[in-house]
Amino acid sequence: MSLQEIQDRIEAAERKAGRTVGETRLIAVSKVQPNARVQAILDQGHRIFGENRVQEAAGKWPAFRERYDNIALHLIGPLQTNKARQAMELAEAIHTLDRPKLAKTIARLAQEMGTCPELFIQVNTGEEPQKAGVLPADADGFIKEAQAMDLPVRGLMCIPPVEEEPSLHFALLAKIAARNGLSGLSMGMSGDFERAVALGATHVRVGSAIFGARAPQTG
Ligand SMILES: *Cc1c(COP(=O)(O)O)cnc(C)c1O
Repeated sequence: MSLQEIQDRIEAAERKAGRTVGETRLIAVSKVQPNARVQAILDQGHRIFGENRVQEAAGKWPAFRERYDNIALHLIGPLQTNKARQAMELAEAIHTLDRPKLAKTIARLAQEMGTCPELFIQVNTGEEPQKAGVLPADADGFIKEAQAMDLPVRGLMCIPPVEEEPSLHFALLAKIAARNGLSGLSMGMSGDFERAVALGATHVRVGSAIFGARAPQTG
């Protein structure tokens, strides 16, 4: 699918849901993609990208930033506390705040650095043992904990279980965000971004539909 086609589909979904057209941010997930493909999307004027590994992002984006203005990088993969500083230096947004220890580390670094990326709290809506994120039952408490540390919590993020209807998870995420007064919803990927937009996504994370299939990630 072309970038334009995806943008058109997002707009159509916004219109159908009675939302403001153009308000959903499209994060082009460029992890593992060859630089030539990423550059082609930059050349089409797109500036919001997602990466899931700090190391890969660090190897790739400084050079692109020298050549293109106004790039916004969103870190969407699990974050180890020992990589938090590098992530905060690289990214405009981190979507995977998922535990108190990481919140404390980011809060301390934000004090020291005088700046902090926008943060999304990842919620494990499917309560999958192998998946990161706070459990739905713990979300309200963790959101308040992070806010009490003065962290800039923009919203919530989820990755629904592959075998389940994603809309149920998007609706749950939206409900948790609403009762906590959070407006940001990072949800929806290549296979389900229109359903996410229908349920209020403010940020959709779309990789393979834009760039084509990824080579399998190793390590
Ligand atoms: C890879 C990834 C995406 C993009 O997935 P596609 O199915 O290729 O669109 C979205 N969100 C997260 C957290 C990812 O790791």
